Amino acid sequence: MKEPFKSAIPVLELIERYGFKAYFVGGSVRDYILGLPINDIDIASSATPSEIKEIFPKTIDLGIEHGTVMVLHNNHSYEITTFRSESDYVDFRRPTSVTFIRSIEEDLARRDFTMNAVGMNRFGEILDPFEGIVDIEAKTIRTVGMASERFSEDALRMLRGIRFVSKLGFVLESDTYQGIKDNKHLLTHIAVERIAAELDKLLSGYHTSQGIQLLIDTEIYKYIPGLPDKKAALLELSQLQIHSLFIDEKWALFSHLIQKGEKEIKQFLSSFRFSNKRVQQISYMSKWLSERFRNSWSIDSVYACGKETALQVEKIYQAYQSKVDSFAVDRLQAIIDALPIHSLADIKVSGSDLIEWKQKKAGPWVKDVLKEIETEILNGRLENDNEVIKEWVTKCSLN
Ligand code: ATP
Ligand code: MG
Repeated sequence: MKEPFKSAIPVLELIERYGFKAYFVGGSVRDYILGLPINDIDIASSATPSEIKEIFPKTIDLGIEHGTVMVLHNNHSYEITTFRSESDYVDFRRPTSVTFIRSIEEDLARRDFTMNAVGMNRFGEILDPFEGIVDIEAKTIRTVGMASERFSEDALRMLRGIRFVSKLGFVLESDTYQGIKDNKHLLTHIAVERIAAELDKLLSGYHTSQGIQLLIDTEIYKYIPGLPDKKAALLELSQLQIHSLFIDEKWALFSHLIQKGEKEIKQFLSSFRFSNKRVQQISYMSKWLSERFRNSWSIDSVYACGKETALQVEKIYQAYQSKVDSFAVDRLQAIIDALPIHSLADIKVSGSDLIEWKQKKAGPWVKDVLKEIETEILNGRLENDNEVIKEWVTKCSLN
């Protein structure tokens, strides 16, 4: 067995030495079979959280009521979840309480898709009661059991299915696809935060186009906050090659495609309950992206936008145009390099200098003069030097 599973074998061994069962499960096994990089290793065990905590000295409670404990072992962390069944679904959401069980087969049966319902023991032997491997090899996403039933138990699974399409480039098996079409309205029962987390993952995937196309084809987008009236923008986004962009750059591009004012964009982003900071950052990028579509970069616009955002905006702009225009990047970089200052804080005088030189009381005039100095320096008409600026200020009689 290869890393990172190899390092985790002693964890399984230890659990088994105490008489419990333990398997690798979930996305890590799926990605291992696919030869993809593995992020986190999930372990399922017949031991209850308190039994796990007795075995391992270092643990962190992640959700004891759902049976999940994080174990720290040899500088690695592993999520260990007790075998459980989820029989009592309320309001189309994951149950608030679960029943711990002692059988891995039953635990695999409650999982969402066959590709995610494969277990692997410490010898690398596969437990595959739902033919998940066949589906992985055929690049098919199929629910464990009847699609409609599984989606009405937990409506988030529909979005999970679509985000796995985006991540893996797989295809939804026809009953699974139909199950989403038939149950899409149930998504309204799911917390916005959980939906937004899935959308982020969908947008982070390599096969974003297919993922977004499925949001449209299944019409599930009509039940996602913020999206019901965004079909045209979704369609346009699905036709772009955007995998070179970071997640918030993708959101900024999407926001731009909506073609609305700054206030509406902020409202749109807030409908996903993103943090205020994130809403500000994305809408700021989107605002400058729209500006970039109207005008090419100038000293004033690069300065006002800020160099980091300007470079990001240029990258998004080029992704939209699906071309690499190194001339435009060089030109932007030349403007950045030539900027004498990057913000007001770079100016070599302060408000109190001005007050002293002009022998006037503090007031709004200070800000106005600083603004004027900023413009003069930016346009190369004034050197950013305390003495030079002092001379300019004393001569200037405007204020
Ligand atoms: P990723 O690579 O994105 O982490 P993953 O398959 O590991 O993908 P997780 O959200 O980490 O997905 O969940 C781990 C496993 O838990 C899944 O593979 C699946 O077996 C099970 N699971 C997670 N969410 C659900 C759900 N809503 N319904 C049923 N099973 C689920
Ligand atoms: Mg995972």
